[in-house]
Parts: sequence; C-alpha cells; structure tokens
Amino acid sequence: MSLEKAVDILRYADRQKKCVVGFDAFNMETIKWIIDTAEEEQIPVILMIYPGDKKIMPLSTFAAVTRDLAAKVKTPVGLMLDHGPDFATTMEAVRGGFSSMMIDTSHLDFEENVRQTAEVVKTCHALGIDVEGELGHVGVASNEADYKNADNFTRVDKAVEFIERTGVDILAISIGTAHGSYVSAPKLDLERLEQINAATDIPLVLHGGTGVPEDQLKAAFARGINKLNYATGYKLKLYAVAKEIMERGEIRPRMSDLVMAMEQPMHEFLRGIMRLAWPE
Ligand SMILES: [Zn+2]
Repeated sequence: MSLEKAVDILRYADRQKKCVVGFDAFNMETIKWIIDTAEEEQIPVILMIYPGDKKIMPLSTFAAVTRDLAAKVKTPVGLMLDHGPDFATTMEAVRGGFSSMMIDTSHLDFEENVRQTAEVVKTCHALGIDVEGELGHVGVASNEADYKNADNFTRVDKAVEFIERTGVDILAISIGTAHGSYVSAPKLDLERLEQINAATDIPLVLHGGTGVPEDQLKAAFARGINKLNYATGYKLKLYAVAKEIMERGEIRPRMSDLVMAMEQPMHEFLRGIMRLAWPE
C-alpha cells in the first residue's frame, strides 16, 4: 500500500478503541523489522525518525526506504518526522517525502509554541500533510522533576485553545511520562488524560513509552491515547540483542550474519509492543 496519513491511521485506531505504536527507526533494518512485524500481525504502524539520526540516514533516504517497504505490504504504514524542532527541519522532511509531520516547540512559552506550530500546520496542510504538535512539555526521564512535576503537564483548557489556534491534527500531551530511561517508576495522570480526551476530538499521543508499566499503558490506551511513541526501548533492545548474539559466538563474525540473526528476536520484541497497544 502507499503510505497513509498518520491522522487517518489514528482515527481508525480510535474507532477500534486501540492504539498504534510510532517507532523511531534509523536505518534499513530497523525500518524493515517494524514493517514486517506489523504485516505479520496485520497491525497498522507509524515509522518515525528522530532528527538527530539523520546523520545515520538522511531524511529523504529514510522516507524513500519506508515508502518502498510500505508499498510491499497490506497493513497501513505511516511516516512521520519525530520531534521536528523548527520550521526549517520540518520543511527538509517535507521536501524529503514525509507524509506526516511532528513539530515540537513545547519547550517554548505557550504563545510561541502556538505561533511556530501554526506556521508548520499552515504550510503542511497546504501540501496535504497532517501535523502532530505537543503541549505541556514531555522532558527527559533522567530528570525526575520532568515527569513528576505537574507544572509540566498539559492543561485541559490550554489543550483546547492550542488545537483551535494551531489547527494541529494530532496532539502529544504531557501526563507524567518522559524520554529515555526513568530513574524512578512514572505514574501517569490518568484523570487529566480523561479530561483532555473529553474536551478535545483529535487523536492524543503519549511520548516516553519506554519503561512505563504495562497496566498504566493499557489504562492510557483505554482513556484515549491513540499513538504510543516508542524509541529508547527499541534502541536498547537492538543493542542488547546484537550483544547477546555476538557473545554467544554461534554466527560467523560478519555484519550480514549478525543482521540476519537479529531478525527473529527483534520481530518477537516488536510484536509484544504492538500487541500490547493493539490487542486481538
Ligand atoms: Zn517524544
């Protein structure tokens, strides 16, 4: 199939009362393992790349590979830039062929976040590209205050105003998660999520999925989270699986043999996360 807009995939997920995982990938194998697993399970999926990883794979190359692999499968595949930091970077992704966009200026004050997000939305919408914005900053998990301090969480009234003024199609919210590896167990503000979901009618996204206890994730999916961003956990697992295979020493010491040996354990891992968000 050709690439689908993320917002269409997420609206479909919302109707099914399920959640789609947006995975951060960064090279051919990490893209292909995600798409192949999604196809095996017949679960929609969204491929993303973090802008910093364009040093590994240029954005246009990431888009071309994802588009080509998506065309070979039946399950819906979306393609989004993760955490576009500014207008210029999002436009680089647009020129590179991205079909959905995220602009994250949530670290700025509300008015500036509105202004920069609206600018990206206006341009992207003119090109038929849907946009995810972020309100209430999702910080880093190594800093406990980032996910424990409710001052960083999304306010319900501000979420309504933000959607109205920017025109975003998808909204990432802050309800107690953070990026990276948590220093202590996070506790999601599910009541706030329910209120935001009731007050808005666009798909909501939870960033910082790695390390959130499964029961809390399930509770978040049941209360209106339609996209779970998953990045750190995938990268950690890729490294761990490669290390384990090399240490076992059962393969020939060739990169190609390592890549092939990684495929099945990575499929299994990805299947687990996809099925958590999208139960049968
Ligand atoms: Zn994120």
